[in-house]
Amino acid sequence: MVGKEELRRRLMRIDGRGYKAYREIEGDYDFGDFRLSIDHVQSDPFAPPSLVRVRVPQGVAGFPTVLFATRPRRVALADYLTREFGRLSRMVAHRRGTGFGGLIAIAPCGQEILERTAVVINEDYVEARISVGLPARGRTVLGREAEAMFFEEIPALVAGALVYARLDAAAVARHVETAEDQHDLRRQMASAGLVAFVADGAILPRESGVSDRPMPSERAVAFVSPPELATEFVLPNRGRITGMGIPAGVTLIVGGGYHGKSTLLRAIERGVYDHIPGDGREFVLTVEDAVKIRAEDGRAVTGVDISGFINNLPDGQDTRAFSTASASGSTSQAANIAEALEVGTSLLLIDEDTSATNFMVRDARMQRLVAKEREPITPFIDRVRQLYEERGVSTILVVGGSGDYFDVADRVIMMENYRPRDVTATAREIARALGADRQQEVTGPLTGPAERVVIPGCWRLGERDKVKARDLYEIVFGKETIDLSYVEQLVDPGQTRAIAVILRRLGAYADGRRSLREVLEAIMEEVARRGLDAIAGRQGEHPGQLALPRRYEIAAAINRYRNLRVKQRR
Ligand code: ADP
Ligand code: MG
Repeated sequence: MVGKEELRRRLMRIDGRGYKAYREIEGDYDFGDFRLSIDHVQSDPFAPPSLVRVRVPQGVAGFPTVLFATRPRRVALADYLTREFGRLSRMVAHRRGTGFGGLIAIAPCGQEILERTAVVINEDYVEARISVGLPARGRTVLGREAEAMFFEEIPALVAGALVYARLDAAAVARHVETAEDQHDLRRQMASAGLVAFVADGAILPRESGVSDRPMPSERAVAFVSPPELATEFVLPNRGRITGMGIPAGVTLIVGGGYHGKSTLLRAIERGVYDHIPGDGREFVLTVEDAVKIRAEDGRAVTGVDISGFINNLPDGQDTRAFSTASASGSTSQAANIAEALEVGTSLLLIDEDTSATNFMVRDARMQRLVAKEREPITPFIDRVRQLYEERGVSTILVVGGSGDYFDVADRVIMMENYRPRDVTATAREIARALGADRQQEVTGPLTGPAERVVIPGCWRLGERDKVKARDLYEIVFGKETIDLSYVEQLVDPGQTRAIAVILRRLGAYADGRRSLREVLEAIMEEVARRGLDAIAGRQGEHPGQLALPRRYEIAAAINRYRNLRVKQRR
């Protein structure tokens, strides 16, 4: 490592030269209070910005150990620092010259508190991984402008965002303690037999269809639990909390259109993640292995056992190993369920708005008209209880359209003007009074899904092939594009990047013997043991832009890869 004055000298030396000369500033510099590492210099002003790290020793940073003593606390503190660095950098940095010149940025964060690689904190130091747009006029190095960035702006950001004494200690504590409470509550929910919890006072609706921020409080109706489902917990930091507990089993959310059913389910979907203070959904929590299921016609399906739901297809295909380049609404929904079960889930979340109607139910009249032998689909209504009773897999289901579901539900929650009511007793009475005209279509036990072994060859890349994430919903894998638009629990572009990194290495995990589930377990185990950083390795990925995905979203990407090859283990 050399002193910071050496960086100044180098910048003056290359001032006015061609952009490539910036390569000469790669290296580590001692800035006294912190170390600056210029790891990778961009190739031109329009290329992705340069990769820089700033590391502040704890002697200077001064974070109390208690703030990062446990994993949930460490993740939340790093998340807070990432946000704070981002907020300040948007104030401090400004355009300089062409292209990305002048940019100083850190991974952007949404409403979820996620394990990220943008900031690392431990006993010895706190480190931020940032992107810096090295300034140029045309393609000519602007050494003095770069000097201002490295000697004024970055030190100001380091001092403002990475030194504990300069932060709002109460806000830091709130962030860390809220996350800790969320973890503790999920643990308590498990022992209480709940699959989801929605706190009284929670704000579920969002600002708009394109914003994940809370709806302003003057418009939003705060959540209040129906008395029948009211539950109380005591949290380590916040103390007593009350709300609606949804026990394991089959739960319906019913109610008129526009009364808030989907909004409630969406909040529950996101409840697998922790949320920042002020989000409104901090205490809307769901078991971590919950999977949103929807129809997704057009997706590819490879060797999936969907025979629990689909049989006797007109093309004669064996649905115990179903493959298609373009699934229908019902077969895609069946595949989504089978794939979730294959990886292991204890809660399915389904909204009629995004389901295939014929997959959900076949009513009495339709049963009369279309003989069972001519209908490949065993509707979900006839499997949902078996899923729970034989597999322990619960379902929370939004249905405004079919009262036939009353027969299979453990409880029915009705949304009325955005307020939930427990209408289980009334729904039972109605079911009894009107009787059930439709026939149960299930004849056998729920078999499958068969475990699949991933054939490693299909993950081999050509010399020139790239793997990269594009925004939130797309991964380019060589010549293929993996479309994740309907993977609704993918929430952060950093997760998508991490999945791309994992896919690039999938050939190493998938040895042709391990099942998909075992492959995912191996990946998650390595990430837990070595950290998210380790999986990035030296693959040219910005080490600071990853966020931890769940195994379900990794599986979703693998399953949507159109060149996927598998064999079933029977
Ligand atoms: P449904 O699924 O029952 O048809 P939605 O959940 O889609 O209804 O909600 C309809 C509209 O009401 C949406 O614009 C949503 O933002 C708004 N909304 C939902 N819940 C609330 C609430 N608690 N307070 C205020 N507005 C809400
Ligand atoms: Mg809806």
